[in-house]
Amino acid sequence: MISQAIDNVTLMLMRGNIAEISADAIVNAANSALAGGGGVDGAIHRAAGPTVMQECRQIGHCRTGSAVVTTAGSLHARYIIHAVGPIYGHHADAAQLLASAYDACIDLAEKYQLESIAFPSLSTGAYGYPVVEAAPIALQTVIEHIGQAPTTLRQIAFVLFDERTFKIYAQELERILRPTP
Ligand code: ADP
Repeated sequence: MISQAIDNVTLMLMRGNIAEISADAIVNAANSALAGGGGVDGAIHRAAGPTVMQECRQIGHCRTGSAVVTTAGSLHARYIIHAVGPIYGHHADAAQLLASAYDACIDLAEKYQLESIAFPSLSTGAYGYPVVEAAPIALQTVIEHIGQAPTTLRQIAFVLFDERTFKIYAQELERILRPTP
């Protein structure tokens, strides 16, 4: 695990299953139909139980690059923020939409006055976004927000499933925080 203090916020990178994490909000890598699926979405809905899917059906839809909130069922969280990242190769403005999905989650976390949020690596599974391209966008978007005080968030975690994704995020964080001259 990597833990880095930035201003008043602790930014963490860890390996694991996001459905098992404790945080005020856990971010789901959802699809725009909020219909459930594999990967993060499957793990979260399996662990959260049927009430979350019922809420998703009622909400019905979420635009790519945006996010919606539900309760968290049996997860160790108060809320699930369902974020829809872009499909790589399908959305022309994929980088902008990916940043916008992370921004939408942070805006909702602030709106609900949450202190902790856990993100997966949005779009880098079924949606095909190369991790080397997605990691700098994910980290930069979150770090930019930390710079814009005041913020209720005190802990922001990226929960990364596999070693390769974790390593790329770790390298990218190092590069952002300690750029070589
Ligand atoms: P998307 O459809 O947005 O690409 P996926 O869920 O398919 O979302 O994958 C996003 C990333 O999350 C991938 O890097 C994948 O390996 C990873 N992942 C899959 N399952 C989990 C999980 N349970 N916890 C955390 N990350 C996961």
